Amino acid sequence: MNVYDSEQIAKGLKPLGYKTTPLLERADLIIVNTCAIRAKAEQKAFSFLGRLAGLKRKKPDLIIGVGGCVAQQEGEKILKRVPFLDLVFGTHAVDRLPGMILRIESKRCRIVDVGMKKATDSMEPFIDSQIDGSATSFVTIMQGCDNYCTYCVVPYVRGRERSRDPESIIKEIRLLVESGVREVTLLGQNVNSYGKKEGLCSFTQLLSRVNEINDLKRIRFTTSHPKDLSDDLIDGFRNFEKLCNHIHLPVQSGANRVLKQMNRKYTREQYLEKIDKLRSFCSDIAITSDIIVGFPGETRAEFEETIDLIKTVVYDSLYAFKYSNRPNATAAELPGKITEPEKKERLQMLLALQENFTTQKNESLVGTVEFILVEGLSKKQTTGIQKTEFGLQRERHPAVQWTGRTSTNKIVNFIPGDDGMPCNDNLTGKMAKVRIEKAFPHSLGGQLRDL
Ligand code: SAH
Ligand code: SF4
Repeated sequence: MNVYDSEQIAKGLKPLGYKTTPLLERADLIIVNTCAIRAKAEQKAFSFLGRLAGLKRKKPDLIIGVGGCVAQQEGEKILKRVPFLDLVFGTHAVDRLPGMILRIESKRCRIVDVGMKKATDSMEPFIDSQIDGSATSFVTIMQGCDNYCTYCVVPYVRGRERSRDPESIIKEIRLLVESGVREVTLLGQNVNSYGKKEGLCSFTQLLSRVNEINDLKRIRFTTSHPKDLSDDLIDGFRNFEKLCNHIHLPVQSGANRVLKQMNRKYTREQYLEKIDKLRSFCSDIAITSDIIVGFPGETRAEFEETIDLIKTVVYDSLYAFKYSNRPNATAAELPGKITEPEKKERLQMLLALQENFTTQKNESLVGTVEFILVEGLSKKQTTGIQKTEFGLQRERHPAVQWTGRTSTNKIVNFIPGDDGMPCNDNLTGKMAKVRIEKAFPHSLGGQLRDL
């Protein structure tokens, strides 16, 4: 979501003559886009801001702004805490940002804008072609959230749930595709409730329209709340050929008492039923999840229930977090806070278990041929480190290792094949048939077979 918002900021500022630079020292304007989901993310934002003090001293005309959820949450207080800051703008102020920058440029004033929009105000994003040439892009289809999970800050910093007009979404995706995008990830805190409040089309109807867009090759979405995952959407995995074979279905906990305290509105049994249904409709679907360890009052036995659920589902991968108190979130008031060392131990135990499952799943793909949407040169390549796991191949093709994902969202780094496969063509945006040769804990290695 924040990646999309950062792109929105860049698109909005393009008409003012700003373009992105990889070198902070060269920037005339720095916007720090922040996340407030856990205390750690917030701390990171402030420590990054602290590091900008020296730059501002050297270059007094540099404009520095803070946007996103921390800006929304803290507002004017940030100006006091960071005295050299020019601008604080909230999650509903991105479309007003160009005007604010023009005012700062001409008047050198300090601005705070954390106003939230009314339900009748426009929420149209800046619709523009892809700015960085990548083959994949996020597209926000709805903002905010009405679910009020008790640990979560999102409803307070992003506001009530609102869905975008489907015509505008389709227009945005078409423009992205024209500029080379081949995969879109549709974003919302709970995509299953897309359009319900406003009486627009359903999420599955939206998917069906996106599926028709020429030259778009893949569709992903996140997040589907387990309480609202419909049979209709599950069926979509069979019906829409561009929809990738992966669902992120955050469970948060495997214990019913904790789920109730979290206000998740489903039980462990109902969650497991949805998993069974997904697998009966689509046997090889990849399933990933989010888990919070150490929610207030979570007993050791309840944590073990989460471990047991992980063993039952056997996820493809997991994002697990230590519970963090958030402003306004009602769980902060609950008794029975778990100590940091205990949370840390639970997290490590859970991650170690999952690492085994992820590795096993990755190993089972060795020897198969997978369709990869190529996203670009691999990280190793772009950072100039050319060491690969494939010694002999490296000698023959010293400079090329590409990266992309399987339909099941697994990262694959691959080298060109040895039978005349192109090595120096730009493969970004192409569908490549890659033979998987190695499995690692967080990625796969392979060799190009066909395009
Ligand atoms: N809308 C999505 C989640 C968005 S937030 C959903 O309902 O599934 C992404 C993840 O951050 C959550 O799934 C949760 O696991 C984690 N998270 C949110 N608030 C948290 C908190 N206070 N402490 C720790 N993790 C948190
Ligand atoms: Fe937060 Fe719950 Fe909304 Fe997800 S569904 S954003 S966890 S309140």
